[in-house]
Amino acid sequence: MKPRVAFFDFAGCEGCQLAVLNCEEVFLDLLEQVEIVEFREAMSETAHRIDIAFIEGSINREEDAQRLRDIRARSRILVALGACANMGNVQARANFTAPAEHFKRIYGSADRDRVQTDPRFWSLWAHTRVRAVHEIVAVDYRLRGCPMVAEEFLQLVKALISGAQPRQPANPVCVECRLHEFECAFDRGDTCLGQITWGGCAAVCIGQGYRCDGCRGLLPQANLAAHRQLLSERGLSDTDIRNRYRLFGSGEALGEEQRP
Ligand code: SF4
Ligand code: SF4
Ligand code: SF4
Repeated sequence: MKPRVAFFDFAGCEGCQLAVLNCEEVFLDLLEQVEIVEFREAMSETAHRIDIAFIEGSINREEDAQRLRDIRARSRILVALGACANMGNVQARANFTAPAEHFKRIYGSADRDRVQTDPRFWSLWAHTRVRAVHEIVAVDYRLRGCPMVAEEFLQLVKALISGAQPRQPANPVCVECRLHEFECAFDRGDTCLGQITWGGCAAVCIGQGYRCDGCRGLLPQANLAAHRQLLSERGLSDTDIRNRYRLFGSGEALGEEQRP
């Protein structure tokens, strides 16, 4: 029997699912080996039993958490797909600000009273706390990045189908950056999070003349004290450093307290 595979989306831009659909040629081959039983981007069916569930997006509301628990209960293997599912991503920055202040910053104070007295809107603001998937249910595998890397997705699916143990080496982005002989962002006078970030993206941003902002998450063995010191020596203030670490990683690198 073919493994039953499903895709689910929560709070995200659906770019990771789009990246899956964009693997067209290889994906069509994969379709021969798996049965897609749920995938809102491409079909309307739902399934009771799932072998591999891919979860895209952060979990923002209690009803989302309930839906996620239900998916977990129906799934043998659960994979967090992309930075939103793995870290909360940029939307998790809302966790550092009180809801009323957050609302005011975005919409100004003029509408605050109207919205705060309208339960349709205010309950959403007041009760939203952005969480990664692993904060709610057990995650078996992670596909990192914003968006996730198509080659890693295909490798993981092939390994799971064949019963092999998927390999996810914990190398920093710098390893791939050096292999491709890209010019280091620090040599260009910029700063970079590549030293403390999980590789696997082929250092694509540096190859495009930019820097790494850490969308694949914090490496477990990262030397944060040294990295902070380096950013500081390159002229970044404590606030700048905090904002850089918070961009994708929601303060993971700082071990920051978020509001409950
Ligand atoms: S990780 Fe990035 S590409 Fe994927 S859903 Fe989130 S915002 Fe979109
Ligand atoms: S540009 Fe960034 S990822 Fe590349 S070597 Fe320099 S610090 Fe590392
Ligand atoms: S270089 Fe950094 S920001 Fe760019 S894709 Fe890789 S991990 Fe993400």
